[in-house]
Amino acid sequence: MDQLDIVIVGAGLSGLAASIQCALSGHRVTVLESAKELAEIGAGLQLTPNCTRLLQRWGVYETMKGPVEPKTCTVYNYKGKVLAHEDDFGKNIRRKYNAPFSDSHRVDLQQALAKRASDLGVDLALNTRVVELDFGTHEGDKATVTTSTGTKYTADLIIGADGLWSACRSIALGRKDAPLPTGDLAFRIVLNIEQITDPKLKDMVQNAGVRFWVGPDAHVVAYSMRGGTVYNIVLLVPDDLPESVARMEGSTDEMRGLFEGWDPVLTQFLDCVDQVDKWKLMHRPEMKSWINQHSNLVLIGDACHPMLPYLAQGANSSIEDGAVLGLVLASPHFSSRAQLPQALQLFQKLRKARGEAIVRETFKQRHDFHLRDGPEQEERDALFASQLGKEIVGAFPSRWTCPEVQPWLYGYDAYKEVEDALRERGASL
Ligand SMILES: Cc1cc2nc3c(=O)[nH]c(=O)nc-3n(C[C@H](O)[C@H](O)[C@H](O)COP(=O)(O)OP(=O)(O)OC[C@H]3O[C@@H](n4cnc5c(N)ncnc54)[C@H](O)[C@@H]3O)c2cc1C
Repeated sequence: MDQLDIVIVGAGLSGLAASIQCALSGHRVTVLESAKELAEIGAGLQLTPNCTRLLQRWGVYETMKGPVEPKTCTVYNYKGKVLAHEDDFGKNIRRKYNAPFSDSHRVDLQQALAKRASDLGVDLALNTRVVELDFGTHEGDKATVTTSTGTKYTADLIIGADGLWSACRSIALGRKDAPLPTGDLAFRIVLNIEQITDPKLKDMVQNAGVRFWVGPDAHVVAYSMRGGTVYNIVLLVPDDLPESVARMEGSTDEMRGLFEGWDPVLTQFLDCVDQVDKWKLMHRPEMKSWINQHSNLVLIGDACHPMLPYLAQGANSSIEDGAVLGLVLASPHFSSRAQLPQALQLFQKLRKARGEAIVRETFKQRHDFHLRDGPEQEERDALFASQLGKEIVGAFPSRWTCPEVQPWLYGYDAYKEVEDALRERGASL
């Protein structure tokens, strides 16, 4: 086995996950991150067992600040009528998948991942923007990464984990390649418990549950984080941001106006909000390959499969990517410089179809959650009603509890996936 020099562009969730697993596999890892600090960007994240089992395995989950396991999962229609409800949701998830469903602040996860990476000897350079990649001229050449200050890093492998606006992707494709609007945007709200005065609402935050409200062209998801002291609310609505604006501060009046006439419980929460951000939700067409021609760059996470956040799988699947890539590079069969092209092909074989299938599923969830009042919505609600209070059977409009979708999302075990693939090839970890 060779010790590879791996440079990861981006210390987001995919980059840090890859850094941990690559370091555990014995490689020298450097992570270059343009941000000055790992500060609060974004808000809450729902972490599902396909990811938390990795966080547990890496010893990261235990070190995270205040993850909250929701007790219940409920879907209301926009007027507040219960369409679906699971009482022991958190418990059932642990029983079925042997790992938790957990709600956290993004920065709490990011900092816990960064701490573990640093303990493993990963070199993390903040305030370091990558501006150029040189892949050499032949397969097997070393690559060079150049930052905005002119510092150069040499790598056997560059991992492009630089998110939705990935420069690595554009450089590899040799053309500017901007993400595309999905037609929706998210109002992201974080409420501290002190901002909520109504005792009934306070109780909803402290007794954690995941709640959805679904209505015409829009839906809402809300959950508690940081030990039940903070409530995260995301409002998903049609995008009205100018084409050139990806994110801006939103107007609370506009936000409340959009949800006038919705469930009073939801509008009461919205009355507590004094500041809100609007995020354009973007996606990208599928790529032919996530690997460059010289087999010394591979893309992971939002750089290659950004999705709608409607199944909360963007970060979860990005962390799966990092784990699978690092694990493939642990195998004596695949961890030499000469074997890198084969290792990357195996990674892509294991990950690309799944990543892209999850993207498609998020759009199906939008369809089912955003129906306008009419025959199709009535049919959906009749299906919801037919299963209320029973064990759900067959395809279900909320994939969060659907027995056909939940198992392939949450049951995924990156370790098992790689072990099985290696065994098939007569190799092992
Ligand atoms: C409203 C909303 C809600 C969401 N909720 C969930 C959820 O509940 N669960 C979930 O799993 N996912 C959720 N997601 C998706 C999730 O946030 C992303 O899928 C995830 O962060 C992708 O991780 P990443 O590492 O690929 O990219 P990022 O986390 O975006 O990280 C990329 C990093 O690269 C850095 N970078 C970029 N360019 C350069 C450069 N040139 N040089 C150096 N560094 C660079 C950036 O600063 C950044 O730190 C949500 C997204 C949105 C918009």
